Amino acid sequence: MQVKMVSATVRCLMMSAVLGLVGCGGDTAGGGGGGGSNAAAVPVVLQPLTLAEADTLSFVREEEKMARDVYLTLYDQWANATFQTIATRSEQKHMDKVKLLLDAAGLPDPVLSDAVGVFSNSAIADLYLQLVARGSTSSTEALAVGAYIEEYDIEDLQQAITEAVAGTNQVVLIAAYDNLMCGSRNHLRSFVGQIEANGVTYQAQLLPQATVDWIVDSPQERCGQ
Ligand code: MN
Ligand code: MN
Repeated sequence: MQVKMVSATVRCLMMSAVLGLVGCGGDTAGGGGGGGSNAAAVPVVLQPLTLAEADTLSFVREEEKMARDVYLTLYDQWANATFQTIATRSEQKHMDKVKLLLDAAGLPDPVLSDAVGVFSNSAIADLYLQLVARGSTSSTEALAVGAYIEEYDIEDLQQAITEAVAGTNQVVLIAAYDNLMCGSRNHLRSFVGQIEANGVTYQAQLLPQATVDWIVDSPQERCGQ
């Protein structure tokens, strides 16, 4: 019975992180001044991040934008609806979620323009151009670019989670990264599924082949949305 209570609390915390809510099990954080009531939008609460965590969160914000922007661009070129669906239904939401976390941590937004292909981080800007160029060569390469981006994201998000656990170890941050990574696994499944539907066996580009195989051979997940 006690175990059940604990797991319910943990589940609530995880859902809170995903949904941007706070307050599980009645032990709300103390502190004064909670005056105005806006039942619809309870703010995300984060304790101050380490410098490394802050840099990573900022990077992830633009990394999600890079995915969105590459997919929007490749959709324009190849009219494969998967790119548009993933860009608008997932990557945009991932960007928005990271923006909420940046705001909660009192950090500036590196996204100074929402325009496609515009980035503050020059490495991400370069990667955007490189991946769009590669994806422009054929519709199959476009799918390979999609899979590359998702492998790249999974690798980075794993590191981000490790860093967050070793850092301030906040469930809100860790659960958010976990949710983004869940989305990336689904996107990898979608892109690889289309590549392999063409009779090609997908070769892992960044992650160990066994990791990619495990992801691709397991079903689409519900990522807490
Ligand atoms: Mn994403
Ligand atoms: Mn993705």
